[in-house]
Amino acid sequence: MEHTTNQYPLLEIDLKKLRNNIEQVVNRCSKVGIEVAGVIKGFNGIPQVSEQFKLGGCRYIASSRLEQIEDAKNYGIEGPFMLIRIPMPTEIPRLVSLAEYSLQSEISVIDALNEECIRQNKKHSIILMADMGDLREGFWDKDEMAKAALHIEKDLENVHLLGIGTNLGCYGSIKPTPEKMNELIEVAEKIEDTIGRQLEVISGGATSSFTMVHDGTMPKRINHLRIGEGIILAYDLQKDWGYDMSYLNMDAFTLKAQIIEVKDKPTYPVGEIFIDAFGNVCEYEDRGIRRRALLGLGKLDACDLTKLLPRTENIEILGGSSDHTIIDVEDNTDNLQVGDILEFDICYTTMLFLTNSKNVNTQCI
Ligand SMILES: *Cc1c(COP(=O)(O)O)cnc(C)c1O
Repeated sequence: MEHTTNQYPLLEIDLKKLRNNIEQVVNRCSKVGIEVAGVIKGFNGIPQVSEQFKLGGCRYIASSRLEQIEDAKNYGIEGPFMLIRIPMPTEIPRLVSLAEYSLQSEISVIDALNEECIRQNKKHSIILMADMGDLREGFWDKDEMAKAALHIEKDLENVHLLGIGTNLGCYGSIKPTPEKMNELIEVAEKIEDTIGRQLEVISGGATSSFTMVHDGTMPKRINHLRIGEGIILAYDLQKDWGYDMSYLNMDAFTLKAQIIEVKDKPTYPVGEIFIDAFGNVCEYEDRGIRRRALLGLGKLDACDLTKLLPRTENIEILGGSSDHTIIDVEDNTDNLQVGDILEFDICYTTMLFLTNSKNVNTQCI
């Protein structure tokens, strides 16, 4: 049994490994004229981690949550900060005081933003979002978008139209391609014709758009990306896209959980099968008696336990409940015991929950 005073579950974050990822991505982008907004929402904006994004050369620190931007500011991280979820109208006063940049898609909100900027005697720059088919935020009607742009340009003193942007691959699962980017550039040019000047920024998307930087196919006028996952875990481009991302560390985050029970048990529940802890009707495979371990970690901490990636060979996550994870360890030869610590790689979903759980101890190394 490992004797230690560590509190588990423990999420260990290797800042050097993360810093390498940031610098690699920022350098590759900067070679093709792209500035990076480092997106900190995936790890709930833990300030020590967010700081690496600034030190590693991200031009902007970005989050969907003002609370995370506030934490970063209080920690002493120099912005500029960018809010990347279009704001709730009731957030506008805090948006103006906390961030210099935001993504926007509603003219009534932008008008209110201008009023608030006047009240606080501040300037704020915005990126107008164009919906290019993924069907989340942004103008669908591009004439309406050009009219909005003209209104911002002519009538709003304290709001500056920095550029336009889009988001892909989130709701509608639309793949970012050079064709999509060229459509976005056409929208930008239409707006430039309308307002009579060049836009400073055309923001081509998130991690999934970094694929075009990797491939060398990004159209020239795209000069801004908002990148989170591709820096933090670097998992999706390798696993979902089949890219060789060997220049990035996929193991900057390590989840450590402790074994609280090890026993040989049947694999098929005994009695009348009804519903599980969450009211789901489940199926179970009868594999006879097998050795199983329980971890002191549950759905409350990690949401989807089956998405955890064990670093230990020959173990299988069977599932769990709010506070337990059940693992098949029959085929493992390490003679696992109560008190042993198992290590896992994490994915985006589990990272979101783990970094937001007050029951998970987070430690930067
Ligand atoms: C979350 C988000 C991003 C970053 O996405 P990743 O896939 O983590 O790179 C970029 N833009 C917007 C609008 C987002 O909401």
